[in-house]
Amino acid sequence: MTDSRTLHPHTRLLHAGQPGFNNEGNAPVNAPIVRTSTVRFSSVAQMDALKTRRQAGEQVSLYGRHGTDTHRALEAALCSLEGANHAWLAPSGVAAITLGLLSLVAPGEHVLITDSVYDPVPHRIVSTLFARFGIEASYFDPLTQPIEEHLRPNTRVVYAESPGSILFEVLDIPALARAAHAHGALLMVDNTWAAGYLQAPMDLGADLVACALTKYQGGHSDLMQGALLARDDALARRVLSTYEALGYAVSADDASLVLRGMRTLPVRMAQHGRNVIEVANWLLAHPQVERVYCPGLPSDPGHALWKRDFSGHNGLLSVQFKDFSGLQLNAFSDALQLHSIGASWGGYESLALPVTDKALSSHQGWQRAQKQREQAGLAPSAGVVRLHVGLEDVGDLTADIAQAIEQAVNQPRARQP
Ligand SMILES: *Cc1c(COP(=O)(O)O)cnc(C)c1O
Repeated sequence: MTDSRTLHPHTRLLHAGQPGFNNEGNAPVNAPIVRTSTVRFSSVAQMDALKTRRQAGEQVSLYGRHGTDTHRALEAALCSLEGANHAWLAPSGVAAITLGLLSLVAPGEHVLITDSVYDPVPHRIVSTLFARFGIEASYFDPLTQPIEEHLRPNTRVVYAESPGSILFEVLDIPALARAAHAHGALLMVDNTWAAGYLQAPMDLGADLVACALTKYQGGHSDLMQGALLARDDALARRVLSTYEALGYAVSADDASLVLRGMRTLPVRMAQHGRNVIEVANWLLAHPQVERVYCPGLPSDPGHALWKRDFSGHNGLLSVQFKDFSGLQLNAFSDALQLHSIGASWGGYESLALPVTDKALSSHQGWQRAQKQREQAGLAPSAGVVRLHVGLEDVGDLTADIAQAIEQAVNQPRARQP
């Protein structure tokens, strides 16, 4: 009953993975931390019975690497949120993405990737692992380029992330799923922006979903973890064999922290979502701001799709300042007092990260915008600053941003080296 998808996601978040009563009829509220390496069996027959169930694809534990009741509780919560039947926990979000891709492709096969994905996908997974194992990959911009022109006879997977990293382009996941499936390929989606619950990619046609639990599910910037999720049993068997070969394991302590974080995800996300829209509107009204990238703003090109496919907003936006140099982007970030400079996001606190034109060199949407500036006789933009708007008072945050903009404006406009 508690895992029923007929319940509102907020209700499911609070009840999924709750431990059952023991023989005495009592139970803790949240799943206890169960640590082990060796798993004991009451008899050889019982051990063999569990082995048979595991070989059939069931997540039962024969050994510490298979996890304990703590891991099962977190997997149940993740499956309930995403409408999945299978979940695998990974030591990081990147590890979950690697697991998914390695489960689906073999040498000589091709993965088609949307061009605004999280940077380690092109620059770690594709450029090192794929290159070494002879797996092909190419990129396209689904907002301007028909996918059909980029699918190859050997394309096995379309890999997408929506909204995109850095500039938050909202993609039409149902359309990508239809095109991939018509081609006999699978669709894998990174659902980290939505924290696994503001969008349900599997309901929109995705076959495999990866999520960095490091971000909002953990929610307190104190752990690393990822998850891969699937609905289909045959697909799950392919993933399980790769999972076992990679030998991934996460600690029960970390799994428990993620589950604990998930219980308050709806209230945290509601405040992140309110704060980010307030900060975005404040920025839009500032004379020094050229553009704010944030799909929750009605002026954002992705707004209509975001409204169609998402049930809320996280705390992310990127801001482009009017002719700031790279030095000024850094000066702005350095001058912030309440925002730490740092990668990642999804904790309770506010963060800022300058992202330069160079870092966006493989981003086709950004490059196109730069060309348009050139044609209009404008200097190229030095880049953006990505903000993670935390749970602080929003007036304090905008005052902090205001004084940092002022300091950056007063920075001598030395040319970037
Ligand atoms: C952070 C992030 C990841 C990777 O998660 P880690 O736990 O840091 O490895 C993957 N995808 C997106 C969109 C992310 O933001």
